[in-house]
Amino acid sequence: MSSSHPLPSTAAMYSPTYPTPSNPLTPLAPNPSPGNTGPTATRPTAIARIASALNRAHASTCTVTPLLENMAGGGNVIGSRFEDLRDIIALVHDRTRIGVCLDTCHALAAGYDLRTPSAFAATLAEFDRVVGLPYLRALHLNDSKAPLGSGRDLHQNIGLGFLGLRAFHCVLNERRFEGVPMVLETPVEVKDAEGRVSEDRGVWAREIKLLEGLVGVDAEGEAFGRLEKESSERGRGERERFLEGLERREGVKRRKEERRREREEGRGKGKGKGGKKGKGEGKGEEGEGSAASESESGSE
Ligand SMILES: [Zn+2]
Repeated sequence: MSSSHPLPSTAAMYSPTYPTPSNPLTPLAPNPSPGNTGPTATRPTAIARIASALNRAHASTCTVTPLLENMAGGGNVIGSRFEDLRDIIALVHDRTRIGVCLDTCHALAAGYDLRTPSAFAATLAEFDRVVGLPYLRALHLNDSKAPLGSGRDLHQNIGLGFLGLRAFHCVLNERRFEGVPMVLETPVEVKDAEGRVSEDRGVWAREIKLLEGLVGVDAEGEAFGRLEKESSERGRGERERFLEGLERREGVKRRKEERRREREEGRGKGKGKGGKKGKGEGKGEEGEGSAASESESGSE
């Protein structure tokens, strides 16, 4: 797609007539996830389809502002790159009634780093350059069970995941986020001694308190350092288990790819040789494959 899509100027976005999230007459819509291209559509076709649905929605209401949420990635998902969001917005007729909700977990999974002040600043600058900060109308605050660039949408409690508390210190102290609504989507499921799962919504109350407590706090100070270490320790086991599973899955993928290449080479050289080699290695791969799929369970 071309990068020459016009964006409204900052002045236009901040004009007194521009609907703001705090204006009760302009409720923000539940975030539509942009979706994916489907099995046959190309990216531009999918983007045009999404924009046309938004234009139809705009035509049938005058009070709703849909926010597009950035996605974690994987497969043919639309919205994991800031460019996707920009290209959808460019095709929306009424750009005063469209915005973006930035999900911190999805951003990390899609390869946008937020973990250090410099990485956070670079990601925000990239968002501003590609989409435009005036379009940022809400934030979803989630830590991530999966590391940077994993493409996996796995929400984790604040400070326990691969983002860590330092990322949320950046978010809570970012001057340009003042007045932007922030929503927690962290897991609240807890297991009792018998393994029964129930919801503890007190998790959100504690996380809100934790996040509010980061405002204005010196990130180099002892108090923050202790808090950061504490939450990081609480999440360590889960992070390590995820990385072990990831290594197993990548090993399986690598071996599959090697086998495929060997089969292809074997076909080129003569039938007998390639077939023999493939059979011998197939056994090991199956065994590891099932171990890998086990470690994938219980996600999303
Ligand atoms: Zn979200």
